[in-house]
Amino acid sequence: MMSIPYGRQHISDADIQAVAEVLQSDWLTQGPTLERFEQLVADYCGVRYAIAVSNATSALHISCLAAGMGQGDVAWTSPITFVASANCALYAGGQVDFVDIDGQTYNMSIAALKSKLIKAAQAGKLPKVVIPVHLSGQSAEMAAIYELSRKYGFTVIEDASHAIGGTYRNDKVGCCKYSDMAVFSFHPVKIVTTGEGGMVVTNRRDLYEELLLLRSHGITRDANLMTEPSHGGWYYQQISLGFNYRMTDIQAALGCSQMTKIDEFVRRRREIAAYYDEKLSDLPLQLPKQHEDTCSSYHLYIIRLKLDKIALSHKEVYDGLRKAGIMVNLHYIPVYSQPYYQKFGYQASDFPEAEAYYQEAISLPMYYDLSTEQQDYVIATLKNLLLSSCR
Ligand SMILES: *Cc1c(COP(=O)(O)O)cnc(C)c1O
Repeated sequence: MMSIPYGRQHISDADIQAVAEVLQSDWLTQGPTLERFEQLVADYCGVRYAIAVSNATSALHISCLAAGMGQGDVAWTSPITFVASANCALYAGGQVDFVDIDGQTYNMSIAALKSKLIKAAQAGKLPKVVIPVHLSGQSAEMAAIYELSRKYGFTVIEDASHAIGGTYRNDKVGCCKYSDMAVFSFHPVKIVTTGEGGMVVTNRRDLYEELLLLRSHGITRDANLMTEPSHGGWYYQQISLGFNYRMTDIQAALGCSQMTKIDEFVRRRREIAAYYDEKLSDLPLQLPKQHEDTCSSYHLYIIRLKLDKIALSHKEVYDGLRKAGIMVNLHYIPVYSQPYYQKFGYQASDFPEAEAYYQEAISLPMYYDLSTEQQDYVIATLKNLLLSSCR
C-alpha cells in the first residue's frame, strides 16, 4: 500500500552537489556560504539583516532575548502553534500567555488581542513581546498587530516558521514592515530546508548586533564593542552570555541551493491547495480561508470537519485516513493544554476558538512532490469516509 506523508523535503541533484562542494572546501561551519545564504534570504524577503542559526527554536530564543525579555516579562502568542513559539519566552526567563485564534484564519485573533491588551493595560501587565504565528503559511494580520504594538509598547516577533514565500499586502513575509523581527524554520517539512536550520530577519541594526552576539557565545572581535584596547591579533571579548546556535556552511549550502527553487516550491504548493479547494468543496468541511491581505505559502493544508454533518468522529476520520496510508497530522494541540503548561493555570474556556479548532482540524498531505495521482487518492479516500458516513 502506498504511504503518503503530510509533508516532506524535495532534494535535487543540484542540492547534493552544493553540499558536496562545501564538504571539499576550507569552511564547514559559519563561513562564506552562510553569509551567502543570509544575503539570499534577506534579498528575497526585502529585509536588511538576516542571521542564520541552528533552528527556529534557537532563533525564537535569541529573538526574545534581543527584545529584552527577562524575569517578570510576558510574551503572548497563539495557542495553536508548535510548542517552540511559547517555550522561547520561558527560556528567556519570562512567562507566556496566549491570545485566542480567529475561527476563519486560525491565526491570532485581532479582536481577542485588542480586548486582552485593554484588560492587561488596566491591570498593569502589558506584554513585553507578542509572537504572532503565521499558521500554515498564511500571514497573521500584521498591520493591526503593528499598530497595537505602537500603542501598547510591545515588540513584535513573527513566528514565520511556516511562511517563507508567503506574502502580506504584496510584500514578502519577513520584510519586517510590521514587526521588529521574523523567524523562519528550515526543518525538512517546511517550505525550504537545510536539514535543521533557522533564521532571524530584521531591519533594526541594534537587534542585528545583539543577535550576532547571542548566536555565538556573546563573543565579539569588533574593537568598537570592546571595553579595552585589543591585546593583539588573537584578541576577542565575551561581552554578554550567548550560545552556540551557529548554522554550518554544509547546511547553508543546501539552503542556498533550495532558495533557487523557492518560487517554484510555493507555486506548486498553491496549485495543490487550489486542487484540494476545488475537489473538496462539496464535502462537509471547512476549507482553508484566505484573508484578503495574504497569499499563503501553504506549508500546511488544514481542513476542519463539520462534525454535525458527519457520522464518524474526528478521531475516526483521522484513523481512517491513516489506515489507508495517508499520514495525516494535527497541527496543533493547544499549547496551554500540554502537561508542562498546566501548572501555569490557563483556562481552556478562555480560548473557545482554539478548543473548537482542536476538535475538528486535520492536516492533509501537502508538499512539492505530492503527485496528482496521490492527491486524487487522498481526495477519494476522504470523500468515501465522509460521505459513506454522512448524517
Ligand atoms: C517548525 C516550527 C518551529 C520550530 O522550528 P525548528 O526549526 O524545528 O526549531 C517553531 N514554530 C513553528 C510554528 C514551527 O512550525
